[in-house]
Amino acid sequence: MKNKILNRLKKLISGSAALFICLSLFSFKVEASTKKDTIVNSFKLKTIVIDAGHGVKAEGSPPGHYSRGADGSFSSERNVTLAIALKLQKAIEKDVNGVKAVLTRTTANDVSFENRAEIANQAKGNLFISIHCNSLSDRVVRERVGTKKRKPVYRSVRVPDRSGKGVLMLIYGLHRSREEENAIKSNQVEDDSDINGDALDPNDPTVIILTNEYKRKFRKQSVNIANFINDELVGNDGRRSEGLREQGIYVLCHSAMPSVLVETGYINNPDEEEYLNSEDGQNEIVQSIVRAIKSYKNQIEGVTTN
Ligand SMILES: [Zn+2]
Repeated sequence: MKNKILNRLKKLISGSAALFICLSLFSFKVEASTKKDTIVNSFKLKTIVIDAGHGVKAEGSPPGHYSRGADGSFSSERNVTLAIALKLQKAIEKDVNGVKAVLTRTTANDVSFENRAEIANQAKGNLFISIHCNSLSDRVVRERVGTKKRKPVYRSVRVPDRSGKGVLMLIYGLHRSREEENAIKSNQVEDDSDINGDALDPNDPTVIILTNEYKRKFRKQSVNIANFINDELVGNDGRRSEGLREQGIYVLCHSAMPSVLVETGYINNPDEEEYLNSEDGQNEIVQSIVRAIKSYKNQIEGVTTN
């Protein structure tokens, strides 16, 4: 098994001086070279998992974490995300050659976070794209309600904040990376092993190296796809963007694949709510994501320089 894993590792990391592996009796250290190195991938983008955020928890749903999502004045995040996800699935299968798109939910019913990650891992996805809408919380302001003994009297009131505007890309935060490591170990690294049913030793140095190498690679690819999508939404559709941000999100860190969460706009901003619910708006978002996927596919299937 070790040989198989080492061969896989070699395939992942080719090029001279890509890694210095320092072995001593009890310690194991891997240092990435600061020199420019080249990773040649024999990688193919075959399956993309599209995740429509939120949903309505149906009666009798299995235990887990569920979330209804944000509401606008006439629509709900969960319906917008499903509409965009369904369009995105069709567009990928039509326009991106040889790539299958799998959805984590296809109806109004919510699927737990745990189940979404499991669906993604079971589908052997190479890329996970989660679709969401953003929303700002109410602001608390002090309002003068009268006078008592010649002094003004205030009360705190909540007012909706509709000022949010634009898109935002989220990638998994570092504080969740242990969970990601476990997902990689049990999904990706075990797939590379020949021996079925044999549990991997988490302390085996080869397993540690391979897991770290996947982690580094997935993180880099998550940032790349997030940048491609962001650039299309900004450059082509003229959307405002809050850029890329790290966040510990269950589905992102339990999916053993590069992943990004796309906040497609603010559902509690009236203009953006109109846009997010319109056919034109949804198609624009979908086409931008499809162009980004094509750029990403070309990048990872070709020669990547880092
Ligand atoms: Zn959401």
